[in-house]
Amino acid sequence: MARYGMVIDTLKCVGCQDCVIACEAENNVPEGFCRDWITTEAKGKFPTIQLEIRTERCNHCTDAPCVSACPTGASHYHDIGGVVLVTKNECIGCKACIASCPYDARYVHPEGYVDKCTFCIHRVEKGQDPACVSVCPTYCMTFGDFDDPTSEVNKLLNSRRYHSLLPEAGTKPHIYYLT
Ligand code: SF4
Ligand code: SF4
Ligand code: SF4
Repeated sequence: MARYGMVIDTLKCVGCQDCVIACEAENNVPEGFCRDWITTEAKGKFPTIQLEIRTERCNHCTDAPCVSACPTGASHYHDIGGVVLVTKNECIGCKACIASCPYDARYVHPEGYVDKCTFCIHRVEKGQDPACVSVCPTYCMTFGDFDDPTSEVNKLLNSRRYHSLLPEAGTKPHIYYLT
């Protein structure tokens, strides 16, 4: 078994948007939409305010409300790595998944189906990193298997402080941010 996810070092991210552009090119994301995006958040109190720059995308949640809300089964867990995917020809564009996602990770493709990050599973299955990870000039993103105790993602989580986004939503997200 595998449980795929990402560990992202917010101290190394410079907000260059290369990850966003690489994703658009790799996945033919239509103009005006995105599968990943950059968020900046001021943390702490004056005079020790820190700006956290984060690259965000679908968290490939273990308890994904988008999967349970989907009336057709189009949104589903892939049999490898727990990756959450959408089968586009089973999607009826009802937007129930969009309404249920606390991360606002999905959009309606102009062709009528719902689209979002796939962790570039087509690349991962060939042994490659997701496109965003592979182009990052500061190497701040690491993709890997949390079920493998020797994986780089586990080593990073064991060596640094980290947080995930909206853990209180109870979806069990699989993107962690090192701080
Ligand atoms: Fe940050 Fe890397 Fe994305 Fe640039 S490519 S915005 S450094 S995560
Ligand atoms: Fe579903 Fe949103 Fe979680 Fe992605 S982040 S698995 S779209 S609930
Ligand atoms: Fe886009 Fe692939 Fe990165 Fe997901 S894993 S944000 S689909 S480039």
